[in-house]
Amino acid sequence: MQTFQQYIGGAFEDADTTFDSRDPATGAPWAKMPAASEADVDRAVTAAEAAFFSSDWAEMTATQRGKLLMRLADLVAENAQRLAELETRDTGKIIRETSAQIAYVAEYYRYYAGLADKIEGAHLPIDKPDMEVWLRREPVGVVAAIVPWNSQLFLSAVKIAPALAAGCTVVLKASEEAPAPMLEFARIFDQAGFPPGVLNVITGGPQAGAALTSHASVAHVAFTGGPETARHIVRNSAENLASTSLELGGKSPFIVFDDADLESAVNAQVSGIFAATGQSCVAGSRLVIQKGIKAEFLQRLKEKAEAVVIGMPQDMDTEVGPLCTLRQRDHAVRLIEASLQAGARLVTGGVVPEGQGYFFPPTVLDCSDAPTAPCLSNEFFGPVLSVVDFETEAEAVEIANNTAFGLASGVFTQNLTRAHRMIRKIRAGIVWVNTYRAVSPIAPFGGHGLSGHGREGGLQAVLDYTKLKAVWLRTSDDPIPDPFVMR
Ligand code: NAD
Repeated sequence: MQTFQQYIGGAFEDADTTFDSRDPATGAPWAKMPAASEADVDRAVTAAEAAFFSSDWAEMTATQRGKLLMRLADLVAENAQRLAELETRDTGKIIRETSAQIAYVAEYYRYYAGLADKIEGAHLPIDKPDMEVWLRREPVGVVAAIVPWNSQLFLSAVKIAPALAAGCTVVLKASEEAPAPMLEFARIFDQAGFPPGVLNVITGGPQAGAALTSHASVAHVAFTGGPETARHIVRNSAENLASTSLELGGKSPFIVFDDADLESAVNAQVSGIFAATGQSCVAGSRLVIQKGIKAEFLQRLKEKAEAVVIGMPQDMDTEVGPLCTLRQRDHAVRLIEASLQAGARLVTGGVVPEGQGYFFPPTVLDCSDAPTAPCLSNEFFGPVLSVVDFETEAEAVEIANNTAFGLASGVFTQNLTRAHRMIRKIRAGIVWVNTYRAVSPIAPFGGHGLSGHGREGGLQAVLDYTKLKAVWLRTSDDPIPDPFVMR
């Protein structure tokens, strides 16, 4: 068994207790992880707070912070393959995906490295004579970053990179499921040359998360995870009145009109729901398909779904690996059963394969005659697609927006004017037209409703880690007149 350590105040250390991480491809424990106690959480926040006010960090120029982030970006790129192998081992995400995704994570650090010395204040045209008034943008303080187990190097980069660019310090809590990649990332971060305590990496479950997000010294909580946990986070933040950004789940519509390029749309749907074994917040998990092309589309989709190579996540040929946890697979099985009872029709998949590991096949459920099937409203976080058909554009919009979530959406059509109408009417934080699941550090990412609030990626995200200070400077040498008149 491999053993991992937590990273507090620039030192690697064991915790008093450990827990086992399981290999999702076999179900067997493979590594011991440090379980952060409440005292560990407190030490990590104290270290981050000390670093925040330390001259080494607080007096560093923004350009120097940018250079350190650039160095970190290079280190992430150099170590991408090693991190990818670790993420594949611990989460079961296939190596084809982890190696490409982590290499790209370096670009997020580069993007915010470049932004560090472009965070500008403002000079105000104030309505008073003899007065100069300007705004300084200052870092908010200690940031608590909480991430789930999926795409964790990516989901932490979109928090750590803008937070450090702005001059904040961070305590990152990795998920209690599969935290190995984040604990290893701490070792890479340590080589970049940041002052101790600027980033601290711990792991543990709800108890550690609650201690961190309610800690008196935390100014902002950047959270990615499920809506139910987000409710706890918001309640915890009543203790410290920290601001929050919440990146939560989705039930994203993938809308295909009968004039779409079918081959493209089918391929995008396959990747939109079966990539990452469906464990993606932006999974296009509701296929909203025009009636005229439904039969052909489902036939092609079924063929592709049944041809998917299911196997060990370490093999480059594998296209769908295991789910990360047994809990998720049980959830998928229960939700499919309930949906079949509600009238959904199984097109393909749906049966747990024999053998070890948490595997589950690509599955398609046709819910066109079962509008109340629970699979249409609940997130699977697995490779399960629910299908609904429509006749008119208005129906497509209504079905697409019939969700409490509002994260992503896809529209496939060759009709330009229709595409523009759909872009306006769909209620989601992201609309992909004739493509799906594209991301970039330059484009903001996030949703509304049960999908949360706040945006990660892009220029605005770095400003979310700053607060404004208004500065008033009187330029007159005359004595201040009547003290009882407000100026
Ligand atoms: P989860 O909500 O169970 O856990 C997320 C994190 O919260 C973990 O680190 C967990 O330990 C921590 N946590 C649990 N209870 C807590 C508490 N009381 N206080 C503080 N922290 C606590 O989510 P998960 O099952 O690990 O991940 C899957 C979910 O994440 C899905 O809903 C998925 O859609 C969502 N997700 C969203 C995005 C996005 O960017 N919108 C990206 C990836 C995943």
